[in-house]
Amino acid sequence: MCTTWYKPCSTCTIGQGTSEFARTDARVSDPNPAQPKTFFMIAKDKICAVAAATDALGMWNQLARALRVTRTVELRLDWLSDADEMDRFLARLAKTRPRATLIATCRRRQAGGKFRGTIARQLVHLAAALRSGCAWYDLEVESSSRCPPELLEVLLGEGRRIASAHFFQRSPKNLRGIAADLDRGNPDAIKIAVKCDSLGRSIEVLRLAHGRKSTIAVPMGDVALPARVLALREGSALAYAPVEYATAPGQVTLQEMIGLYRADQLGRKSRVYGVIGNPIGHSLSPVLQNAGFQARRMEAVFLPFPVRDLRDFLRSVEPLGIAGFSVTLPHKQAILRHLDDCDAMAAAIGAVNTVVVRGGGTLYGCNTDYVGVLRALELRIPLRGSRTLIFGAGGAARAVAFALAQSGASVCVCARRAKQAQALARAVGGEVVERPRLQREFFDAIVNATPIGMHPAVGRSPLAARELNCRLVFDLIYRPRVTKLMQLAALRGIETVSGVEMFVAQGTGQWEIWTGERAPVAAMRRAVLRALTHEAKMVRR
Ligand code: NAP
Repeated sequence: MCTTWYKPCSTCTIGQGTSEFARTDARVSDPNPAQPKTFFMIAKDKICAVAAATDALGMWNQLARALRVTRTVELRLDWLSDADEMDRFLARLAKTRPRATLIATCRRRQAGGKFRGTIARQLVHLAAALRSGCAWYDLEVESSSRCPPELLEVLLGEGRRIASAHFFQRSPKNLRGIAADLDRGNPDAIKIAVKCDSLGRSIEVLRLAHGRKSTIAVPMGDVALPARVLALREGSALAYAPVEYATAPGQVTLQEMIGLYRADQLGRKSRVYGVIGNPIGHSLSPVLQNAGFQARRMEAVFLPFPVRDLRDFLRSVEPLGIAGFSVTLPHKQAILRHLDDCDAMAAAIGAVNTVVVRGGGTLYGCNTDYVGVLRALELRIPLRGSRTLIFGAGGAARAVAFALAQSGASVCVCARRAKQAQALARAVGGEVVERPRLQREFFDAIVNATPIGMHPAVGRSPLAARELNCRLVFDLIYRPRVTKLMQLAALRGIETVSGVEMFVAQGTGQWEIWTGERAPVAAMRRAVLRALTHEAKMVRR
């Protein structure tokens, strides 16, 4: 244990995570029996769960949940509503002393936390936390800069210190200078958290940890979400993830960090893939693609990239080692300008949903929506010679139209904007069908390519029952799995296909293009269906 916290301490390096660390740690006598000798030896323990609740019981429950997946937990004491709750929680902690590496944090409001008391009270609470079983404490620069080192030594000398600096609003230029300033007090570890307005900036934050031991780099903000997941891979000593409530912008939950992204297992050799779009928060592609990597035990991860500025993302492809990415709205057309090459069908459709990063960083684009449509339909009806109707004339409708036309189906288009419908029909050699004709005409298949009926407007159908004169209805929507349109069709005895089929088929197609292997389709489909069922349950609650 560092009793001389102000001197560099080679034995207490946070997050070093090696057996060497375990050996050095074992040499020092640890007066706190709750602390394991092997802090952070297991990579999973470099994921630091953040427990933050307003009452002692809530905090305790979060701690218990965290300990099921990691042995490193930050206790946000500043979230507890008052000193009584804090005392209650710390008393229970002192009695139980879980075998874990606990970091006490009591961040003041001035530094972005919730604690309203003085610096003196903050230090008193941190000291109580150390006595109760926390080995580490996190003290922000706003407080430490106003404390004489002797006072810190007397009150907190028992603990290992993380010297932290947080920039929630402004993003300082000189990050290395800030790191050097934090180092000057000779803490056991330093932590720099910076709100990032671009992916490029979040990479700069991660680079702070390159080649530096005991440095925790925390890029904050929605755009920095992928960087948070990749923090350990880039050398950060810890990556933070909340058990329940986000304590900083852009956080990834503990469950996602370990269960979905397996952030603890990512190394420099891990391949990185992702989906770019805006918004992207509800994309199921990470669930689908990561299930494939997990099923095949591949060292790869698939991340959601919230991308407003395409150039910012493209500049980050090489530094993050991105090997391929999916493209969704609003970038499916715009990405074409940035590609080095593109397959003929994607060029004809005028939209790319899959990009492969080839040698030298060149970008090759293709479109698997097209493949997804065919895989979803061709087992159900013979497409050659069939008569099909596409309702809607947007981006997805284009992929459907090209797929159907290519398979020898005759394509009819019906859309609220006549010009759009005509343009699409012309592009595939099809015809426009005016809406009033739908009641009188028969089709082998009707495809809904509009968002009508999509969550949350689940009670709406794009077409009335009397307009459904066909053998099969294919709704591209996959939230919900069974749409109002599909219900109306089923009542008329019409076979239905959910957009889930296309989603899984286009995604497994991407997976195969990137990996060059056969996709574990069943495992990938199961993961998506599980996620959709879970979502539906949450909506009903
Ligand atoms: P999009 O480019 O915005 O096109 C939407 C089309 O629907 C446009 O023709 C639009 O007409 C029309 N539309 C929208 N609201 C309408 C309304 N109230 N009444 C009549 N027409 C309306 O969108 P997209 O990318 O093609 O996506 C369409 C749907 O397909 C979405 O629900 C999406 O989730 C789904 N999709 C599913 C998959 C899958 O894998 N399952 C893949 C891609 C897309 P205007 O141009 O006049 O607005």
